[in-house]
Amino acid sequence: MRTRINGEWIVGFRDGNHRLLRGGCVVFEGERIEFVGEHYPGVTDAVIDLPGSLVCPGFIDTHVHSGHRALHRLLADSGRPDLFGQPYMEVTIARAGTSIRGYPNYLTRAQAAADPGMALHAAFTVAELLRNGVTTFVELGGHVIVQEALRLQCESLGVRGYLGPGYDSGRWVSDEEGNLTRSRYPDDGQHLFEEAVAFIERVEAAGNDLVHGILVPREVENCSPDILRRTVAAARELGVPMATHAGYNVIEFYETIREHRKTPIELLDSVGMLGPLLNIGHANFISDSPRLNYSGGRDLALMGSSHVSVSHCPINIVRRARVLDSWKKYREAGINLTIGSDTYPRDMIMNMRTASYHGKVMSHDLTSATAEEVFEAATLGGARSLGRNDLGRLEPGARADIIAIDLGRKDTLRYGPIWDPIRSLVECGVGDDVGFVVTNGVVRMREGRISGVDLGRLRADAQEFATGIWAEVQDWDPLKRTARAICRPSFYPDCG
Ligand SMILES: [Zn+2]
Repeated sequence: MRTRINGEWIVGFRDGNHRLLRGGCVVFEGERIEFVGEHYPGVTDAVIDLPGSLVCPGFIDTHVHSGHRALHRLLADSGRPDLFGQPYMEVTIARAGTSIRGYPNYLTRAQAAADPGMALHAAFTVAELLRNGVTTFVELGGHVIVQEALRLQCESLGVRGYLGPGYDSGRWVSDEEGNLTRSRYPDDGQHLFEEAVAFIERVEAAGNDLVHGILVPREVENCSPDILRRTVAAARELGVPMATHAGYNVIEFYETIREHRKTPIELLDSVGMLGPLLNIGHANFISDSPRLNYSGGRDLALMGSSHVSVSHCPINIVRRARVLDSWKKYREAGINLTIGSDTYPRDMIMNMRTASYHGKVMSHDLTSATAEEVFEAATLGGARSLGRNDLGRLEPGARADIIAIDLGRKDTLRYGPIWDPIRSLVECGVGDDVGFVVTNGVVRMREGRISGVDLGRLRADAQEFATGIWAEVQDWDPLKRTARAICRPSFYPDCG
């Protein structure tokens, strides 16, 4: 079956970069693209006309934490000052002797398997990604039970997932007063590492390009040098990429220096982990950042010379008063910048816009973090981080992962007159403008509708689940706060 998609603009690929065509078509057969250009000389079995649409490669979201993120909704305009705005420390570390229902990272297998939230988390995540034009994503370290649930959704909805059961050598724990300390597992996390490797071997052996494995030692401060070295060796042996959190958190930065006399990035360098196939989430708290008062920093140079990949999640960090300093410096150093949504919303267009605006402000340069650069990061940058030269681009032989963004919507004036569709997209677009998605040569969404998925039902289920979770916050919060005490609703009548 050979299918032709006609669009108003096409983002093709030639000589190593995207090329914009005014009018034209993309033709695919089976799982691969066969032709991109103005006039296809052959015969096709089906034609899909998308007037007013920008046809481009699907987005690659390099930083996803699965779920509808009910607890993260409590972290807007609020947070504990002693945690320096680090979201996961606020909403995933329960008071000693308690646990958080529906947030499985630190649950045992039995607890997670019994948790009714797992299937909903996975269904919501993959549907939200698809609705926003994400055709490939990386999950950073959810429980293996979460990865199994995501795998089913990836296969059924048709989104390519790099799934990484998280492991570490220990974890953060909180006492009754809210003081966080790190504790180590007796086996240095070997049981979790082995579970992750077994999952990766299972999915890679299945040979389905919609599901791959990725090694995810979750957070650098909770990983011993030994488990990081084992990760590097396993990545080589299994032929899979790696992802972790490093340079992402004020506490992590100083704790790592105190323990190892190395910055988190230097620690990764010392175990041979830095390279293009390592995706570092967020790497914004690095030695070169003036916010950390560190002298003699060389993190930027280390990351740049090894062409490491950074998953920059601009909305998620700016919500916590953080920023990448700066997009321009990271690019000039040689770092492969990619874009991630992290928590919510999973809107890559809004993330591109935020990356661009903050890139300009932090560089004091209106010509930096251009629409071209952020679009490149959201497509080709993500593909490079996964070692894939058949993703993130529309060229003959590449995977048929194609989206169409409706810039000609009749129900909005938002786009105005379009001089350059890429700039219009980055400046004026939202994820819901993605109307059409193909992954691996199969149409997965038309006119914003995903076959077999009731978005209204998913939202209602998530709302109901979240309401239950919010009602229980005081049962596990280290400071025994209610949801309202953590995040007072706007214009809440009872200000006391
Ligand atoms: Zn993360």
